[in-house]
Amino acid sequence: MSDCLFCKISSGEIKSEFLFEDDKVVVFRDIDPQGPFHILIIPKEHYTSIKDVKDESLIGHMFYAGNRVAEENNVENFRYIINTGEEAGQTVFHVHLHLIGGRKMTWPPG
Ligand code: AMP
Ligand code: ZN
Repeated sequence: MSDCLFCKISSGEIKSEFLFEDDKVVVFRDIDPQGPFHILIIPKEHYTSIKDVKDESLIGHMFYAGNRVAEENNVENFRYIINTGEEAGQTVFHVHLHLIGGRKMTWPPG
């Protein structure tokens, strides 16, 4: 999608350092980290939200990539988040899986 920030990041049009990349996903650090370790796992293909991803293997692959990058960075405790819709806090409308770790978490989330 031509006017999508995360499409531009995944295609390399906007330069970003990838912690993981393959043919399906890229992983990079969140620009406004909510913990010592905060990464985003996104599909290369544009989907507005997780509700639009009908490919269950892609959903699984996003978690695979997150698990792998967490392990490589010795992050043992972490939280996955997918904000879905404005009211849920989604601000970038290209699906992304947050992985936040490196600090004590509270519950319930805000
Ligand atoms: P959400 O609010 O769930 O849609 O999350 C969007 C996330 O994208 C936020 O945590 C932002 O800090 C992050 N973000 C926005 N722009 C960039 C960027 N250029 N590079 C990395 N992360 C970004
Ligand atoms: Zn996109």
